[in-house]
Amino acid sequence: MANYTVRVYGDPVLTQVAREVTDIDHKLVKLAEDMLVTLYEEPGLGLAAPQVGVQKRMFVYDLGGDDDLPQCVINPVLQETDGEWEYAEGCLSVPGLSWDIIRPKRVHITGLDLDGKEVSVEADELLARLFQHELDHLDGVLLLDHLDDETRKEARKTLRDLGMGTPEATARRATGSGLRLP
Ligand code: ZN
Repeated sequence: MANYTVRVYGDPVLTQVAREVTDIDHKLVKLAEDMLVTLYEEPGLGLAAPQVGVQKRMFVYDLGGDDDLPQCVINPVLQETDGEWEYAEGCLSVPGLSWDIIRPKRVHITGLDLDGKEVSVEADELLARLFQHELDHLDGVLLLDHLDDETRKEARKTLRDLGMGTPEATARRATGSGLRLP
């Protein structure tokens, strides 16, 4: 098992739409295992494949507690949403920052697990938030896309000041030699 370098803001892989997974094979299982290692190492709560540079529709997560939940969801689909909830949301690909973002409070998602079995999960609050956040990553959407124009402008400036979002910074990080931010 190995850990990946998490791609950060400015990396073009984070703004692309990921492809459906067609084969759930040993390579995909290995990818999920390595993504979980990366998730625990960061640490974070959820990680989508594009965040490690892989354009596949899958994510891993761990909020602790419920062992019945799948740790990896493949080809997830948002079936239903309900309510509204504001929460200070962060992202491993936008390290060190968070913003209050309003999203639906409850969601129902379906998808496949690593055995290829269909999963159906109803979630609320933090887990519902996590699912929506990871689904966004699969569609090339980042936290910044949820901000109003002015806040987004400020965020971009902050990120540039932190050394993210320029082509040079992206290249440095993609080769794994970038400095890690707290
Ligand atoms: Zn994220």
